[in-house]
Amino acid sequence: MSKKNINRKICLLFLLVPAIIIFIIILNNIDFDKKVYMPKLGTIEEANILKEKYKMTINTKYEYHDEIGKDGIISQSIKEGEEITDGLTLDIIVSLGKLDKDKLASDNINELGKVPIMMYHGIRERTSSSTGTIGGNVDKDGYNRTPDAFREDLEFYYEKGYQMIRLDDYINGIVDVDYGKSPIILTFDDGNEDNIRVTGLDDNGNIIIDENSAVGILESFKKKHPDSKATATFFVNGGIFNQTEYNEKILHFLIDNGYDVGNHTQTHLDIKKSSGDRVQKEIAYVYDELEKIIPGEYVNIIALPFGSPYVKTHENYKYVLESNYNGKTYDTKAALRVGWEPEVSPFDKEFDMTFLKRCRAYDNNGKEFDIEMVFKNLEKNKYISDGNIDTIVIKESDSERLNSTDKKVITY
Ligand SMILES: [Zn+2]
Repeated sequence: MSKKNINRKICLLFLLVPAIIIFIIILNNIDFDKKVYMPKLGTIEEANILKEKYKMTINTKYEYHDEIGKDGIISQSIKEGEEITDGLTLDIIVSLGKLDKDKLASDNINELGKVPIMMYHGIRERTSSSTGTIGGNVDKDGYNRTPDAFREDLEFYYEKGYQMIRLDDYINGIVDVDYGKSPIILTFDDGNEDNIRVTGLDDNGNIIIDENSAVGILESFKKKHPDSKATATFFVNGGIFNQTEYNEKILHFLIDNGYDVGNHTQTHLDIKKSSGDRVQKEIAYVYDELEKIIPGEYVNIIALPFGSPYVKTHENYKYVLESNYNGKTYDTKAALRVGWEPEVSPFDKEFDMTFLKRCRAYDNNGKEFDIEMVFKNLEKNKYISDGNIDTIVIKESDSERLNSTDKKVITY
């Protein structure tokens, strides 16, 4: 072999070796089949990063844990090392830290405490003929309330540590309020125009809501205090909100913004004075109207007009819970009467969603179960949440009162 040949081979080798190395590097970087594997999750933040990156749906449950600190992950449904792709669902159990029964006791956590269901009607200014009014009442019986009084009511509930929950959640045993907070439920009867008065449409065709109507006030309260969780359930008659041209848009607005709509009979019927046939027809009418506009999105709950009948043994009561009309059956899950004091916890053995008591939202100088009296009494026995919808925290001494439940029960 000539010296020239050897030189040429060495030269070639010098060119080829780096070329092969570069080729291998490139091959390794262009991943033709890049797989991603599940890491072991340490904290809820790490789970949230995966959620963003891989468009995961994450279902979170919280539990107390002796070793894993607060916000640490106790378990994950997709195990470490399993391949992950976009759009998976991951169930995680997150630690609430070590269960501190002394803290639960000193914070008076009590999920067998009472829950106020407030009954409102109209929100309107007094007229010059309004006489005998007390505080924020518009009429002498205190059924309607002024806009300013309603604003003050909301601030009062908020300052007292109440957060609003949906009536439909309450009857389903979902009391979603923060640790140390208490639930409150707002209801409005009669579908008064001033519950949500529409003054026109904006350039996008959305309704413009009068800021002095109930929903106008609730919406601005929600912006001011997002943690108030402002919501309410509206019980309508056949005229819905009596604004024919806007009724449809109003119902969609309510549903889209976390409010609920239920049944108050077609003509505000006195159920105990009517025929069974009429009762069924009037209940069916409202459900049919709601079904046309917001199918499947209203609540199957009735607020009994005049709070009648006053006893569940009345012969028409069965029609409240099940109405048959025009060959269709209409089921009602819960019914509201006109009461005077707060209801029991949904976990209490006494809880009866088919005959719930409400508190009249009115002023009467701290007497006859007005707002002041109801909330003063509640200080002794109100529901105070542990901030976790999956657990029920109660005093050991209240165990007898607890209804059977799927949820985890913690006693102290
Ligand atoms: Zn009514």
